[in-house]
Amino acid sequence: MTPQPTTDKSGEASVMLMHSEDLLNWSREKSLWPLTFGLACCAIEMMGAMTASYDLERFGIFPRPSPRQSDIMIVSGTVTYKMADRIRRLYEQMAEPRYVISMGSCSNCGGPYWQHGYHVVKGVDRIIPVDVYVPGCPPRPEALIDGFLKLQEKIRTEHPLSRG
Ligand code: SF4
Repeated sequence: MTPQPTTDKSGEASVMLMHSEDLLNWSREKSLWPLTFGLACCAIEMMGAMTASYDLERFGIFPRPSPRQSDIMIVSGTVTYKMADRIRRLYEQMAEPRYVISMGSCSNCGGPYWQHGYHVVKGVDRIIPVDVYVPGCPPRPEALIDGFLKLQEKIRTEHPLSRG
């Protein structure tokens, strides 16, 4: 729900009225701070999305260098078994409530390695929960932005106090 301004006697907007749950969701969805973290070729497109041409900050998306300052992880690239423990460790170090976008076929399901890639995890959702999947090999920056918008829609309808 968008906050509704009320007006005083002079007709000027003075007070904002809204439910506390809507206020929490609104503040969360407008301040997503992704962890600066990439695994393979999809990470190049993720970096492209962070540049001035796409201006993610207009959506409140602001990359952070530490998992302790982040509330969203973009898994962009091939998840090998060697990296799986590290990814889970980073996820567990992130602040609650935390969200995950799986970016690209490799992260979604193993991608080109799904059949013969003995070293590749067939989907990052086998090790951490995923909120939004972005398809493509690689997805373009616009697709990742669309994933962020989908995540914002999801957060908008959440019960914020019950989110783990
Ligand atoms: S999905 Fe394609 S572009 Fe992305 S990491 Fe895998 S092989 Fe590379």
